[in-house]
Amino acid sequence: ARMYSNLPLSVPITLPNGVTYEQPTGLFINNEFVTPAQKKTFEVISPSTEEEITHVYEAREEDVDSAVSAAQAAFDGGWSGADPAVRAKALNKIADLIEENAETFAHIEALDNGKSLMNSRGDVALSVGCFRSSAGYADKFNGSLIETGDSHFSYTRKEPLGVCGQIIPWNFPLLMFTWKVGPAIATNNTIVLKTSETTPLSALYLCKLIQENNVLPPGVLNVVNGFGKITGNAILDHPTIKKVAFTGSTATGKHIMARAAQTLKKVTLELGGKSPHIIFGDADLDIAVNNVITGIFYNSGEVCCAGSRLYVQENIYDEFVKKFVAAAEAVKVGNPFDESVLQGAQNSLNQFTKIMSYIEAGKSEGATLLTGGEKASEKGFFIKPTVFGDVTEDMKIVKEEIFGPVITVHKFKDADDAVRLANNTEYGLAAGIQSTNTNTCIDVARRIRAGTVWVNTYNDFHQSVPFGGFGSSGMGREMGSEVFNNYLQVKAVRQAIHV
Ligand code: NAD
Repeated sequence: ARMYSNLPLSVPITLPNGVTYEQPTGLFINNEFVTPAQKKTFEVISPSTEEEITHVYEAREEDVDSAVSAAQAAFDGGWSGADPAVRAKALNKIADLIEENAETFAHIEALDNGKSLMNSRGDVALSVGCFRSSAGYADKFNGSLIETGDSHFSYTRKEPLGVCGQIIPWNFPLLMFTWKVGPAIATNNTIVLKTSETTPLSALYLCKLIQENNVLPPGVLNVVNGFGKITGNAILDHPTIKKVAFTGSTATGKHIMARAAQTLKKVTLELGGKSPHIIFGDADLDIAVNNVITGIFYNSGEVCCAGSRLYVQENIYDEFVKKFVAAAEAVKVGNPFDESVLQGAQNSLNQFTKIMSYIEAGKSEGATLLTGGEKASEKGFFIKPTVFGDVTEDMKIVKEEIFGPVITVHKFKDADDAVRLANNTEYGLAAGIQSTNTNTCIDVARRIRAGTVWVNTYNDFHQSVPFGGFGSSGMGREMGSEVFNNYLQVKAVRQAIHV
């Protein structure tokens, strides 16, 4: 719900571990928390209790405009030429601040998103790694000298773009903030970032730490809370913004690309998926079962690269499916703050309803429900780990991204068959291969059309390894050395030499 309010710019929140911290509620513009012109707020719900955590202020067109002005002024006022050591120091300081407050961040994330502490601690650790990686790259963006064999001096420079608009989703609030902000700062750009309307808390808290520690000059990083249709579109339409980086659904990604075309922004998109996970007959079955569990139930299945289509070789099909279903039934679902829980709550009532409607579609399309398929508790948006067998390639639950703890199981004959089934999708974000035969692994990894292939592991990220999609899963890469290309443009200089 939205309302007009005189909400304080900071509210105390007591986390389930008993720690009370000060949560900012404003927009972060020019290193200050401010109220928006219209003073509208919206509520933030805890998905595990369905109770309100707090309200935060909502940015509208005029607020996005002042954030953009602040970002452009910072760019022009020196940040576009900031020394690499200054950028690296700032990025390492942000990593330190996350690390020093790791448990608070893990708890905020579990409270706001609904994910388990077990999962959110991993997000926090990877966020620290990613900021440090960006810090390490900050002095490594060099142009080159070009030998043309004539009386000219020709060279290239790698220059920042200017103000970057960034729009992030709710499934990894802190980590998506990190994936966007780190590379933009490393490359001398300035930022106007919109968090998801359901998970604004961790980004604001990090901005508070950044502010209190004087990490960045005013205007380099600006955060606007709000909804896609108003705040998001204001970013897409703003003529001063040179680039938009988005993570979220493929449908919204198409809208973003079309709308950003009006002002010819550079666009990078990290979108949905329907990733195949292939289990060969020679796999170590216990390792494979574990990896499939991580592949689909990690982060409550709300992962763009979730291994949601399982393909099992026919000679081990019955044995593997039996083991896997037993393991799915043993996954602990519930209170995100219980240390032994893997699968927390789905992020919102919308997401819960969407997943449940896919489960109904699976049943009515004739798939066999092998386990799960229902709400896991009275209160909170919890869903039992769900496995469907007897599926066909044309079923909705096999074709469309569900973004929840739901997996379909299919039988295959040989590698050719597995590759054909795996590639029968418009998406291409990730894939998994479980096999002890290295020839099979290398061959199938080459033939799968996806931006990431995990072999004998799954949902296994590292800040040095790039991540991003083929096909409808998007364009551009996050992490590794690749991401920085999304934030730099090449200038060629050709100077005639007159002697
Ligand atoms: P979404 O793509 O609509 O939202 C992601 C972000 O985009 C949010 O910040 C949202 O406010 C913003 N946004 C939405 N509409 C916008 C618009 N018109 N202009 C500018 N910004 C806009 O995702 P959702 O509605 O939260 O979830 C729907 C589905 O998206 C999920 O069920 C899931 O399938 C998918 N999803 C994928 C990812 C991913 O990482 N690939 C992440 C979140 C959701």
